Amino acid sequence: MVVVGAGFAGLNATLALCDEPVDIALVDRDNYHGFWPLLYQVATAGLGPDDIAHPVRAIFADRHNVSVRLGTVVGIELDERQVLLDHGEVLDYDYLVVAAGSSTSDFGIPGVSEHAFPLKTLPEAVRLRNHILTAFERADADRAAVPDGLLTVVLAGGGPTGVEMAGAISELIGTNLALDFPHLDVTSARVVLVEATDRLLGGFSPRSQDEALETLRAKGVEVLLGAPLARVTASGVVLADGSEIASHTVVWTAGVRANPLADLLPGEKARNGTVVVTADLSLPGHPEVFAVGDVAAAAGRSGEPLPQLAQVAIQGGRHAARQVAARLAGKPTRPFRYHDHGIMATIGRQSAVAELPGGLKLRGSMGWAAWLAVHLVFLVGFRNRLVVLVNWAWNYLTWDRASRVILEDTSRP
Ligand SMILES: Cc1cc2nc3c(=O)[nH]c(=O)nc-3n(C[C@H](O)[C@H](O)[C@H](O)COP(=O)(O)OP(=O)(O)OC[C@H]3O[C@@H](n4cnc5c(N)ncnc54)[C@H](O)[C@@H]3O)c2cc1C
Repeated sequence: MVVVGAGFAGLNATLALCDEPVDIALVDRDNYHGFWPLLYQVATAGLGPDDIAHPVRAIFADRHNVSVRLGTVVGIELDERQVLLDHGEVLDYDYLVVAAGSSTSDFGIPGVSEHAFPLKTLPEAVRLRNHILTAFERADADRAAVPDGLLTVVLAGGGPTGVEMAGAISELIGTNLALDFPHLDVTSARVVLVEATDRLLGGFSPRSQDEALETLRAKGVEVLLGAPLARVTASGVVLADGSEIASHTVVWTAGVRANPLADLLPGEKARNGTVVVTADLSLPGHPEVFAVGDVAAAAGRSGEPLPQLAQVAIQGGRHAARQVAARLAGKPTRPFRYHDHGIMATIGRQSAVAELPGGLKLRGSMGWAAWLAVHLVFLVGFRNRLVVLVNWAWNYLTWDRASRVILEDTSRP
């Protein structure tokens, strides 16, 4: 069988099938599994890129029925039961699990693709970190450029990623960069969080939303609610009411859609391009093909659309694997039942909101401790967990976001 994507869904599908009598080709365009909930920490110099990534081959080194393939899937031939890779390799399958995740959507807002920084991949996080650190270097050399928005970071989207980025950037600027640039007035730097609706953290309870708003404002983040973006330009953003914010750094955290591979699959698509699947997560009319994780529009117990979250992907991947095993054993498949483990978002040092099953809500340092523990548990790889734990402890004790390196090739002739 073939599994496309070694993210949360594909990795868990493959792990759950390792002991079954199947040969699995696991394909990914990258040679690592990325832990995206901590991506914003790479962008804000809290962690290094390989702290949150784990080589896929290392995970399956002792699994002789798993063949890891590095390549981008460019075609899926359902009739021939073949997957085509960009370098020309063709993989045959009896069963296929499509777990290619999601990609950035600009919602059709002019200028987002050209001028804003997306935050979906490790190279994008490193590029953003380079850009923020370089902006401070440039401002230190030319203070006259600061009023032009050189030190203004605009975060578009008040969901968990926007909130987490806002808290982390304000801490990076207020602590480390203030010390690194003693001759620069870092209080002139601005962090502006722009959200189209009148609430941060949609999907959380009003109390958690209020807590996020108060905490960010206390950190000096300017939060603009009910402020949809009209366009992004080379020199900043224009809001729907016509007001402008000069900024050299606009971070787009607002929109995702299904990975373009979804378009290669037949059948109905949901609003964000995700593949509508049957109750057992297979493709309608193709019981041998499963779509799981961010690429799929799976439904919860009451038919509600499930969100694009790591837990949905992990459980969906495991479920698809169990259905393949059931089919191999000649048994019927079962519908997917999602178990809600809650939602959480960190707002900065010692501050997070966590809403757990059973109505349990944690805030402040309790929420933060829960957030730290959950992220450490789900991070793949013992070394990664250890390195992240040491980094966090170091940061907690010293306030030092240690990964403040600009990783660009400056060795021009
Ligand atoms: C910045 C950020 C923060 C997030 N924070 C949270 C959070 O706090 N909590 C939470 O629950 N969720 C969070 N999410 C969402 C969560 O990461 C996703 O829901 C989850 O990763 C979905 O799992 P997946 O396996 O479907 O996709 P992914 O984990 O994205 O994996 C998809 C894999 O497919 C590969 N791939 C894509 N296209 C191709 C192709 N054509 N050929 C080969 N390989 C391909 C990719 O390289 C990737 O490895 C966050 C996401 C982001 C981007």
